[in-house]
Amino acid sequence: MKPEISIVIPAYNEEESLHPLFESLYPVMTDMGRPFEIIFINDGSKDSTLGILYDLYVSHPEVRVIDLNGNFGQHMAIMAGFEHVRGDIVITLDADLQNPPEEIPNIVAKMDEGHDLVGTYRKGRQDPLFRKVASKMVNRITNRIARLNIRDYGCMLRGYSKRIVEIINISRESTTFIPALGQKFAANPIEIPVAHREREMGTSKYGLFQLIRLNFDLMTSFSIVPLQFVTMAGMLISLLSSLLVLYMLLRRLFIGPEAEGLFTLMAIQFMLTGITLFSLGITGEYVGRIYREVSRRPRYSVRKIFEHEAGE
Ligand code: UDP
Ligand code: MG
Repeated sequence: MKPEISIVIPAYNEEESLHPLFESLYPVMTDMGRPFEIIFINDGSKDSTLGILYDLYVSHPEVRVIDLNGNFGQHMAIMAGFEHVRGDIVITLDADLQNPPEEIPNIVAKMDEGHDLVGTYRKGRQDPLFRKVASKMVNRITNRIARLNIRDYGCMLRGYSKRIVEIINISRESTTFIPALGQKFAANPIEIPVAHREREMGTSKYGLFQLIRLNFDLMTSFSIVPLQFVTMAGMLISLLSSLLVLYMLLRRLFIGPEAEGLFTLMAIQFMLTGITLFSLGITGEYVGRIYREVSRRPRYSVRKIFEHEAGE
């Protein structure tokens, strides 16, 4: 039977989480009484993740496993899943049990009401305070710059209609942020609150550096405002320094030669060097993006797909 609901779960070194996840996910899905499939993507795990997924596949006809040929990152793993979904309702979920599967029926209910994208935000988020505050700021800035309206970028528990998944599939970006891409194409999106749990097993795959990287990718793939900002800052600084030069020239004419203010000059010079380097970096982000897009390498490669007969 053709599945109506497709669950897409990327997994990278999640050996501790997968059994508890599956044990709470599977009954939720069967209780809904609609045909479904669960697609796991093994994102080049180095632990026994693949073995566990293989066992789940062998014992459950609804489970499909896409084994990637290396670690391509969470969003590329989801992309790989999206290219294989069969259901009309597609739901993404983290493997680490931070997104409670019990919320899936609520998302499905909203999709049934006609929403083509159901986002979620975490209520009572169980993360360290530093991460909560940082992510609130980042959410706000990102929304402004990328012209999006997503309340919680970090919550991957989301529902997408088949149509949106198809559009995401044909926008062949080499780095992307799926929830943002989805929102760009959604006609009737909605966001609902979901419970959030602490990560109990395994460790987060995102350190501070990865989070900063993720955000640069998010900004550069959805906006050129940072570039325009650099241009504006450059214009403003040029204007101000021309005024300064003019002022210095007048002083030279009326007061005569002066040699003070060396440290002020150094300070200004350091600041300008900083701005220049930062601007160069931002420009470089875009050049890097262009480079990645024109090199047209496959975004990920699939080693093997384990699936039962579709039986459509
Ligand atoms: N993940 C992945 N590839 C990666 C990193 C993460 O497939 O390179 C998966 C991971 O297994 C999990 C999800 O993406 O299912 C979210 O990762 P994590 O929980 O570490 O992120 P956080 O919740 O800390 O943002
Ligand atoms: Mg997590």
